[in-house]
Amino acid sequence: MSEACRVLKQYFGYDTFREGQEELVESILAGQDTFGIMPTGAGKSICFQVPALMLRGITLVVSPLISLMKDQVEGLNQAGVHAAYLNSSLTAGQYQKALGYAKAGRYKIIYVAPERLVTEGFLDFALHADISMLVVDEAHCVSQWGQDFRPSYLKIVEFIEKLPDRPVISAFTATATKEVRDDIIDILLLQSPKVVTTGFDRPNLYFAVQSPKDKYASMKNFLELHTGQSGIVYCLTRKYVEEVFERLRADGFSVTKYHAGLDDMERKANQEEFIYSRAEIMVATNAFGMGIDKSDVRFVVHYNMPKNMESYYQEAGRAGRDGEAAECVLLYAGQDVVTNQFFIDHNKDNQELDEVGRRMVMERDRERLRKMTFYCFTNECLRDYTLRYFGEYGSNYCGNCCNCLSKFENADVTEIARGLIGCVESCRQRFGTNMIVDTVHGANTAKIRNYRMNENPHYGELAQTPVFRLRQVMNHLQLYGYLNVTSDEYAIVKLTDKSEAVLKGEERIVMKLAKEQEHPAKVKGSRDGKAGRGLKGAAAGFSREEFTEKEEQMFARLRALRTEIAREENVPPYIVFSDKTLVHMCILKPATKEDMLAVSGVGEFKYEKYGERFLQCVRNVDK
Ligand code: ADP
Ligand code: ZN
Repeated sequence: MSEACRVLKQYFGYDTFREGQEELVESILAGQDTFGIMPTGAGKSICFQVPALMLRGITLVVSPLISLMKDQVEGLNQAGVHAAYLNSSLTAGQYQKALGYAKAGRYKIIYVAPERLVTEGFLDFALHADISMLVVDEAHCVSQWGQDFRPSYLKIVEFIEKLPDRPVISAFTATATKEVRDDIIDILLLQSPKVVTTGFDRPNLYFAVQSPKDKYASMKNFLELHTGQSGIVYCLTRKYVEEVFERLRADGFSVTKYHAGLDDMERKANQEEFIYSRAEIMVATNAFGMGIDKSDVRFVVHYNMPKNMESYYQEAGRAGRDGEAAECVLLYAGQDVVTNQFFIDHNKDNQELDEVGRRMVMERDRERLRKMTFYCFTNECLRDYTLRYFGEYGSNYCGNCCNCLSKFENADVTEIARGLIGCVESCRQRFGTNMIVDTVHGANTAKIRNYRMNENPHYGELAQTPVFRLRQVMNHLQLYGYLNVTSDEYAIVKLTDKSEAVLKGEERIVMKLAKEQEHPAKVKGSRDGKAGRGLKGAAAGFSREEFTEKEEQMFARLRALRTEIAREENVPPYIVFSDKTLVHMCILKPATKEDMLAVSGVGEFKYEKYGERFLQCVRNVDK
């Protein structure tokens, strides 16, 4: 195991790096400037936090957002790493104190707001400290091409130039466009940086577009199916936020709101309500979310179509950061286009541009709006559309968006049905589903040979039909009573009084099937290593969808324990453990310390703090 892997496991409790992470870590450790472009949720923080722990001195992380800093620092402290943040949320006294500790070498990682960098107080510390790395998080903020340009980011270069020794510089962003990437490298003066880009696909997110007659009613339906889960409802304007918030509250939902028209105090309080899971649903404008790292957001509903795909993917991407399945639903209406058009025509953000420049920006924004509108109308795979927008190539079938899942056609499966039913009959109704499917498919397994099913007249009869299709038809036959599966532990497939008609060719079987896919959807290993147990869950690694009743019960108890601990520690629940970690616990059912440390997301420090309590909780349910 590499040293970096050891650190990953010890502090963060993860067994393996995700795509791109190790490359970025190694590059930083080799002393090279490094630039990581990864989508939201891909795990950028790990890429600089792991090397920060391995390098000799201090790592400074420049970050534009107070909420993000707080969240990351809390997370690090929970993992046993000494970290702090220096920004305007601290009083002068607190700031001096933190700076004092920093000078005394107490912190390994320090988050700092860009405008602090070249202040006297901070320089006094930085010029005498051993700074081994400078991280520029949300690096697109240096670019005027980006959506979030921050002039204070230009101070970063000024700061670096003042340092006696130039540290390794690493930059991270989720923004993909080429102009912005080039800007980042040029403006930050990165020295022949190692650039790593990982895919923008988020396989665990389900995407859907609906154009309902009554948006509110259709959203309400959706929310009722998701009670107990955290989610965000984005609206285009403050007025919509207020309206939707009031209606949801009146309808008894656990809801809070956020937009730029609320005063600071209320915004902050509402944000915390949501982050700490005291309110389930956040209704907000796009002012909410940048840098909010709540990892267990299970759905993002757009009550209005946003202004462009960049905004949409960024906002929708706040769902499912823990890698568990999550849903992103956009509710479209023609009025949304009109509203966005109005914003573009009355945009006051570009006053400093001349007439020609303003026209160009306006044209660009209109084009972006058009592409966003196409998204709402396309019949193609929504994921594919999005990835192509960002310059990547997806497969034209993802199997996890509303278009892929609703492209059905009526297929005549009578021949398949006859093969399956015939096989059940000829083996004298002695076997379960797998054996029947394997037989007609012509599998060459020991089990087949042992029961001499390779001599069955139907053996290999449907070798050309994919196994997933055979299973689909098998399910259909059971569902409609052409076959029956015993409900005892052996789950034997039996004939019914409807079977005969199919065998005799008196009845045809027609079922709705997803249209033939050219590229079968990627299915990664699921918990027992077998592929194909439901795409959503499989893509996420381990999933609650396959939980037994006992595991469900365990999950509920573990969540309650997590809430209890979060209250004691005064941190959001997901900082204690992510949903994914709890799901993994339910599956592994750890009995010892070693077992517990094998759970993804349980590092040594967290084990020492809470391991025993979670073990006890697992034991109580698993008796
Ligand atoms: P980003 O900043 O890229 O949006 P984060 O750094 O917030 O993403 O990471 C998203 C989530 O993924 C976090 O909950 C994080 O703990 C988790 N994560 C990161 N790296 C790994 C890994 N190697 N294995 C498992 N989970 C990881
Ligand atoms: Zn799709």
